[in-house]
Parts: sequence; C-alpha cells; structure tokens
Amino acid sequence: LGGTITRAIQQMSNATIIDEKVLNECLNEINRALLNADVQFQLVRNMQNNIKRIVNIEDLAAGHNKRRIIQQAIFNELCNMLDPGKPAFTPKKGKTSIIMFVGLQGSGKTTTCTKYAYYHQKKGWKPALVCADTFRAGAFDQLKQNATKAKIPFYGSYTESDPVKIAVEGVETFKKENCDLIIVDTSGRHKQEAALFEEMRQVSEATKPDLIVFVMDSSIGQAAFDQAQAFKQSVPVGAVIVTKMDGHAKGGGALSAVAATKSPVIFIGTGEHMDEFEVFDVKPFVSRLLGMGDWSGFMDKIHEVVPKDQQPELLQKLSEGNFTLRIMYEQFQHILKMGPIGQVFSMLPGFSSSELMPKGQEKESQAKIKRYMTMMDSMTNEELDSSNPKIMNDSRIMRIARGSGRHVREVMEMLEEYKRLAKIWSKMKGLKIPTRGDMNMR
Ligand code: GDP
Ligand code: MG
Repeated sequence: LGGTITRAIQQMSNATIIDEKVLNECLNEINRALLNADVQFQLVRNMQNNIKRIVNIEDLAAGHNKRRIIQQAIFNELCNMLDPGKPAFTPKKGKTSIIMFVGLQGSGKTTTCTKYAYYHQKKGWKPALVCADTFRAGAFDQLKQNATKAKIPFYGSYTESDPVKIAVEGVETFKKENCDLIIVDTSGRHKQEAALFEEMRQVSEATKPDLIVFVMDSSIGQAAFDQAQAFKQSVPVGAVIVTKMDGHAKGGGALSAVAATKSPVIFIGTGEHMDEFEVFDVKPFVSRLLGMGDWSGFMDKIHEVVPKDQQPELLQKLSEGNFTLRIMYEQFQHILKMGPIGQVFSMLPGFSSSELMPKGQEKESQAKIKRYMTMMDSMTNEELDSSNPKIMNDSRIMRIARGSGRHVREVMEMLEEYKRLAKIWSKMKGLKIPTRGDMNMR
C-alpha cells in the first residue's frame, strides 16, 4: 500500500500541471490502495468526495503547494474518520469499573482481556478477570493460565454452563474485594448468530458494564463493518480494540469499526504476548495505513527545518538506506538536543519521541540514550561505519563493555536497539528525493 500511495503522489509530483485529471488519477490510485488495506468501499467513496470538496483545484490560490495540500487533506480525512467525536469511557483508578469484552471467537478477546488487565496492573490498578465464556471448551483454562502468569485474580467455572450467572458472580466477588477494574471475557462462537448476540445482551444487562469493548481481528478484511455493526446493534459498544496488528494487515478495518460502532479505537494488539499492547494513537496508525511513515510529509519537514547546508548529506544517507552505528550516534545527538534534525526524525516511526522517550520516562530514556552513546564512544571507526551487524562478535562486545565500564548485557541491548532502528531506516532505501524545485508545484 505504502508503495502505491507514494507512487500516486510521486506521479502527481512529476506532473508539471496539477489539474482535475491529475488529481482524479491520484485519488483513484489512493482509493485502490485503501481498498487493499481493507478500508470499506463506502468509506473510501466518502473520503474521495470529502477530499474533492476540500481540494478544489480551481480555487487553490496560486502559489500554494498543491501536492502538499492534497496529501495533508488525505491524512486529515483518515484521522477524522478514526475520531467518532466523543472519547471512550475511561475507568478511574480506585473506583470500580466493569469492562465487558465482546467479539467473534478467535478475534483475540481472551488475550486482549489479559493485556488490558496487565497494562493497568503495571500502573498500580487492581484488575480482575471473569471468564463468562461457557461455550468453548478450554476457555476457562486459557483465561486461568493467562491470569496466573500475570498474577491477576480470576473467576470462572468448569461446570456452570450459564454465562450470565458466572458473570454476575464474578463481578460481585471482585466488587467485594475492591478491585477497581473488573474485566468480563465473553464467548464468541464461530459466526455471527442470534444466540451469540442474545447471550451478549443478557450478560450486558446483568452486569451493567461501564464500557463494552468490541475486539476485532485486523485481518478480517472487508467483513469488519458488518461484524462491528452486528455487535453494536446487540449491545452498547463504547470502544474498539484492533488485534494482530503485528501481522500483514494494515488495519483499514479499524475505520469501519469506528464508523459502525461510533466508538473510538483505544488500544491495538501487536503480538501474542501480554505486553504486546499499545495505546491507540491516530497519527502513527494513519501513517501506517498510508505506508511506512508519511514520507512526503517527512521530506517537506526536512526542507522546512533542516539547515540548507546539512540537507544534501542527510538526504544522501537516507536514500542509501544503510544505517550505521555512527548514524545512530548522530541521530541520538540530534534527538537529545531536539534541534531541527531531531524534530524531523521524531516524525519517523521508531524514532519518534513517544517511542524513544515515552511520556513520564523522559529522564530515564535520556539517560539510556546517553549510556548507549558512552558505549559507542568505545567503538572503533570500523565498527561505527559498518552496516553489517554481524561484525559485532563476542570479543568486540566484551571490549566495548570493558572500555565503557558497562555490562555486556547493556552493550547487547544497545545493539538490539540499533537493529530495530536499522530495520526502520532500511525502508527509506531507494527513496526518490525530491529537490526544492519538485516540492513547489504551482
Ligand atoms: P478469543 O477467541 O476472541 O478469546 O481469542 P483469543 O484471545 O483466544 O486469541 C485467538 C488467537 O489469536 C490466539 O492464538 C492468540 O494468541 C492470538 N492473538 C490475540 N491477539 C493477538 C495479537 O495482537 N497478535 C497476534 N499475533 N496474535 C494474537
Ligand atoms: Mg476467548
């Protein structure tokens, strides 16, 4: 998808005159890309119409950068589509909240319930898990295993077959124990069927949840809208969690789920493990939907904030795609200073300050980055300039640890971080770098 969008915009950049025809061709290509990313047909159509309304080629005042305006319009429109206009219910620590999870079997409900509980437990909450899935054999065992691993109290039964009864008993039990987050996992069944929706209605009416979370597998494709709508019609869904975002799916179904439930996405699941769970953030999500990062916006930013004399070198490095430890060192310097180049890089996934320096952990993160830099100070030029991580053998790692007075484990951690960032950086390889002239299409 990224390729297609980038190509569409690139083609538009190459056109000397941007007229209705060029805009339509660009929009058509973007539509195809969005459909491929599982964005629902109707939503794509709506978006196209909105963009045409916003970007009126005739009305664009001369002197404006049309390509940039169109691009920005697409980005904003997708962000708007993910914003239902009102936030989801947010539980308050110390006050009991009941959160019910619904979704088809296999969507990731049980896994996500545990992730949600664990996420809050790490922040000092007292969560508890209730297994109201009496439909699938082994459902209780699965929840029990997850809960035990995370040391979270759980409730369920091997013999009771009435999900409503278990849900109510579980909720009552944990209310008495002063848990502030009581999470009710429910059954899914294989397909949407009346019995499932009736069961959800009953569990919901009996437990009176403060929030009902619809859990959706990101790989279900165009089915997302109908599925989300079917749940919303049965119970008052108030939030969405999209799972398996670590797979191939770009997550376009999230737009459908938001449209169908009129509820925001609150988290995304990015793996099978308990901590592979992220707070949903609209902009990076849309960047991903459009491909890796918003490259063209990124280029604009470079032209905007990086001193002219430093641009060619930076762009050259980017297009080569070889990320060396020296480049990482330099980026760390920029990020710590938060100078112009630091600002540019914070637009990249992986390099963003929310990832390198998460909120509330700025001090620790800065210290970590400085620690990494101290270790890199003990590296040879050969090591710093190599883009082959294999040269970092045990004896080199040991030498660096000794030289910088750090632990071998820390050197290895720093090299892991390097590999992570190198992977992101490599996606920029071969990027055609527009010159100043290309950027100003008038
Ligand atoms: P449920 O039937 O809705 O309760 O779904 P489960 O929680 O049992 O999950 C179904 C499968 O999806 C399990 O194998 C999970 O490990 C897997 N799963 C859940 N969330 C994620 C995720 O975010 N990423 C990946 N890769 N797998 C996930
Ligand atoms: Mg389950």
